[in-house]
Amino acid sequence: MTKKNTQSFTSTCCYCGVGCGVLVNKEKSGSITVQGDKNHPVNKGMLCSKGLNLHYTVNDKSDRLLYPQMRYNKNMPMQRVSWDDALDRAAAVFKTFIDKYGPDSVAFYASGQCLTEEYYVLNKLMKGFIGSNNIDTNSRLCMSSAVVGYKKALGEDSVPVCYDDIELSDCFYVTGANPAWCHPILWRRVEAHKAANPHIKIIVVDPRVTDSAGIADLHLQINPGTDITLNHAIGRVLIENGDIDLDFVTNHAEGFDAYSKLVFDRTVHESAVICGVSETDIRLAAKYIGNANGFITMWTMGLNQSAIGVNKNLSLINLNLITGQIGKPGSGPLSLTGQPNAMGGREVGGLSNLLPAHRDLANAAHREEVEKFWGGKPIQPTPGLTATEMFEALNNGRLKAIWILCTNPLTSLPNVRLAEEALKKAKFVVVQEVSNKSECLPYADVILPAAAWAEKEGTMTNSERRISYLNKVLDPPGEALPDAEIICRFAQKMGYHGFDFKDAATIYAEHVKLTAKTNIDISGLSYDVLKEMKTVQWPYKKKGALKGTSRLFTDKKFYTPSKKAIIHAVPDALTSEMPNEDFPFILTTGRVRDQWHTMSKTGKVNKLNQHYPQAFVELNPVDAEALNISEGDVTVITSRRGDVQVKAKISTQIKQGVVFLPMHWSKILGNDLNRANNVTSDQLDPVSKEPDFKFCAVKVEKFKKP
Ligand code: SF4
Repeated sequence: MTKKNTQSFTSTCCYCGVGCGVLVNKEKSGSITVQGDKNHPVNKGMLCSKGLNLHYTVNDKSDRLLYPQMRYNKNMPMQRVSWDDALDRAAAVFKTFIDKYGPDSVAFYASGQCLTEEYYVLNKLMKGFIGSNNIDTNSRLCMSSAVVGYKKALGEDSVPVCYDDIELSDCFYVTGANPAWCHPILWRRVEAHKAANPHIKIIVVDPRVTDSAGIADLHLQINPGTDITLNHAIGRVLIENGDIDLDFVTNHAEGFDAYSKLVFDRTVHESAVICGVSETDIRLAAKYIGNANGFITMWTMGLNQSAIGVNKNLSLINLNLITGQIGKPGSGPLSLTGQPNAMGGREVGGLSNLLPAHRDLANAAHREEVEKFWGGKPIQPTPGLTATEMFEALNNGRLKAIWILCTNPLTSLPNVRLAEEALKKAKFVVVQEVSNKSECLPYADVILPAAAWAEKEGTMTNSERRISYLNKVLDPPGEALPDAEIICRFAQKMGYHGFDFKDAATIYAEHVKLTAKTNIDISGLSYDVLKEMKTVQWPYKKKGALKGTSRLFTDKKFYTPSKKAIIHAVPDALTSEMPNEDFPFILTTGRVRDQWHTMSKTGKVNKLNQHYPQAFVELNPVDAEALNISEGDVTVITSRRGDVQVKAKISTQIKQGVVFLPMHWSKILGNDLNRANNVTSDQLDPVSKEPDFKFCAVKVEKFKKP
């Protein structure tokens, strides 16, 4: 209790993976206000524009789904029904398909916004009881390349550093990320550190001149897709200069010889030409890194969302490995997650190729352990369908039913018109949602109203492995229920045991048990411990320990069979859709400062909409002049898959030959011609299955009235 008539609750911002602590103040009227939590180790009271306006999204209930709805065929209107009727029908249809076509005929498509408890029960249901691995989430679209990168290089999907390493570092290599806009509070810590210590060096690698590049000592404005070439060239100069850690590469890593041979295949000058930057700047970047006592690499979608995303990740982690800058204060690779609980989802095995607590789906002993623990069906050894594969499988009829929760694939998937076709063809669609504006709703056979942030309790894990407890502050409106409760009620309707959890704490306790003796062991954690400690970084093995684990690999023992990190000599050839005469420009997509994902929350806030009131295409002035396009002209961007019509923003911040579209705008926010994913490529990284959102070939023209 803070003031009279106001109750105060601790929680965590539900936007990006920085995971800022917030205090939610509940007035007697039931409305809330939000402020930064001064005692929270991540943000120390600060919030960015999105976090500061969180309360508007909760207080405005005008767009909320309030009760379950259902229809018996696609031509019927939706009708209000009871929870029992809706879940009975969903269970009956799922059972019919499973009996007739097998368990792989159904799928769940969830979200990095789900709480860890929600992820846990979904995985248990699908992998352990339905008997299929067709459970994937939109984290596939943003983090799966980093997951594979960590696993290949370090043995497990484990971020080694903590945010407190920022203030201990003296060189940052920020690549494929614009944290000044997309992870603002973390970036403020970097800015403050730089302001207090002007000697520290910040290198930003980005084809665009971003706000993050604004404070950089060196901005390498590379040609899109040339990240690996650049990282290899820097690696070569580090070796030439003797700025590598010989003890580390000899005793704690494998693969250095092959790597060294590979990076010397090309001169630094040749690499500079490919990347579109100067040789001097590549050498300067290597000098900054070589001189650093603490060196952090920081990245996000610019590396992950690529047809060669895994190799981009590996080429970057190599820079930490060859310099031995890992497992020590101020050093290591730090991937930033776009969603608040992408990390928590990975802990419980929340992708179609994972098992709980970083166990391996392909490992029979690991499957057996989880099977025994759950007491359900045998877990299938082969990965289930990934995000884009689910929609392909609906299109070709292999998948009959899909259950979509907490995400808006009809804005966020690449080549999105194929996804629309897929939902049209689906035999049965369940949409579990907060908002009545979701683009998926017209395709639904059953609609289930879900509780929103602050209306349910649970946990999330941020980008530095920090688990936090989120209080329930308000009751959900109407008949909306927490997602975990909906899934558990459905599982019971299917006749499965093991889903009669009393509350979220009981679900969490079961998840904790499954982590015992693994590398993410949180055996010491319970809701009570979390409520007392507020946040804890995993592993946390013993109740009563004063803190969790800030930093991994301090003993230089990695999670690989040899306990050594692996330096991978990866090729740099780009496999993306290349420009040609018909489609001469490279399209890249990304975020703007005040919007988040598909705007279902931030789009409700007037203040946030003022930054960029509408979608736009960013175009270099030289290209604009050649195309006779002026600022504000309606411009048509066409790829082999579709088109977008938005106003032109002419800017020297983008390279010639490259155009940028923000990814937020959707059909529900005007028309479907402002949706970037009409044109993006659905090519995938072959291993991570993450789409190539950052590179495809397009044509750019001034709009002409027909
Ligand atoms: Fe929320 Fe991320 Fe902003 Fe922090 S930085 S307030 S977690 S959106």
